[in-house]
Amino acid sequence: MTSPRVNLLDFDADQMAAYVAGLNEKPFRAKQLMQWIHQRGVSDINDMSDLAKSFRATLLDKAQVLSLPVIKDEHAADGTRKWLLDVGAGNAVESVFIPEDDRGTLCISSQAGCAVNCRFCSTGHQGFSRNLTAGEIIGQLWFAEHLLRTDPNAVRRIEKYPTPGWEHTGRVISNVVLMGMGEPLLNYDNVVTALRLMLDDRAYGLSRRRVTVSTSGVVPMIDRLAQDCPVALAVSLHAPNDKLRDQLVPLNQKYPLRELLAACERYLPFAPRDFLTFEYCMLDGVNDSDIQAKELVRLLANIKCKINLIPFNPFPESGLKRSPAQRVHAFASILLDAGMVATVRKTRGDDIAAACGQLAGDVVDRTRVRERAVHDKQINLDQDDDVDSLDDEEIEQEYQPEHSVQWLKRLDD
Ligand code: SAH
Ligand code: SF4
Repeated sequence: MTSPRVNLLDFDADQMAAYVAGLNEKPFRAKQLMQWIHQRGVSDINDMSDLAKSFRATLLDKAQVLSLPVIKDEHAADGTRKWLLDVGAGNAVESVFIPEDDRGTLCISSQAGCAVNCRFCSTGHQGFSRNLTAGEIIGQLWFAEHLLRTDPNAVRRIEKYPTPGWEHTGRVISNVVLMGMGEPLLNYDNVVTALRLMLDDRAYGLSRRRVTVSTSGVVPMIDRLAQDCPVALAVSLHAPNDKLRDQLVPLNQKYPLRELLAACERYLPFAPRDFLTFEYCMLDGVNDSDIQAKELVRLLANIKCKINLIPFNPFPESGLKRSPAQRVHAFASILLDAGMVATVRKTRGDDIAAACGQLAGDVVDRTRVRERAVHDKQINLDQDDDVDSLDDEEIEQEYQPEHSVQWLKRLDD
């Protein structure tokens, strides 16, 4: 019986060197392989012309370069592009390319689904299917970078951003954020292998400042990341106190705010910039009151940070609403007046559901569809009963932190 071929996308530089040594080849062959695969985007081993024929024959027998098959490729009016990728067993993940004047950002997924189950996230509502392999994570960058080089609009951007080592081809993607589907720090080893490839000059050579891991707060893994691969860190906060955060981000029950913020402070000396980012998804009547803004100011007073306010991207099953624009601005003003750095995230690719938290994959594990449908119906009923029929007095109360907790508790049924 022949053993399955290894996926060369699974190896960081050290692992590639070990693999090549195991085939009794010279170390420089590993470097050549890295360049062919990651810098030139070649997947066919036959096309790696400066490798000895005998080595190519061995590789053809034992190895392959395999990224996730593309199910759908969508273009938004604002230039955002979204790919739906097949991860097998009827499941799919997504990656999104967001072009801007001064950068090209790729948002990638780390897991199929997510076990954290945040109330406002459509990936969370989907449940967890499986971790992506290192090759499936880096494969999203490999695929997007090399595909976009054939896109006339993207290629026009290349000349603006020459990168040392990439002069022969230029690059389209300058920034990577792990803000797609999944909790990256719950797939730690594979994510770190992929991060190492992003930073490695023999592969993508991205700056640590331009690679961001976003986490819902897996405290022990924040400490490990500081040691293993300290890239930029974004922490999904979404609430100024444990009572509300326990409801919105269930992982808070395991790693409450005091422990999370202590981990953030320990990370700071290793971070590529002298601040961390906190993400705060603005949910109408849940976490967006003046009182909560002031509570947030007190909570973050001693930590160097930037707060990124994300307008909630609604999806039907959530039973939640986006905060009105004037509420987001009022909330931001309180932070700014207190001397904090706060920004409001622009939503991109709305017409192709490519914004934060809208990434759910169109293909789901069929064995769980019925279970989900029942769950979703309960939430919608709760919403009809309790939210749409609020009178003025209740709307006033909605801005009290206590009330939002009660309201979210009802969604728990
Ligand atoms: N699991 C990681 C990374 C993926 S989620 C994390 O939670 O940080 C990336 C970001 O999108 C997080 O800040 C998350 O809170 C936010 N997000 C999730 N659902 C959203 C929604 N429906 N609208 C706006 N932002 C959302
Ligand atoms: Fe998972 Fe992040 Fe979505 Fe929470 S917000 S369910 S951690 S992907």
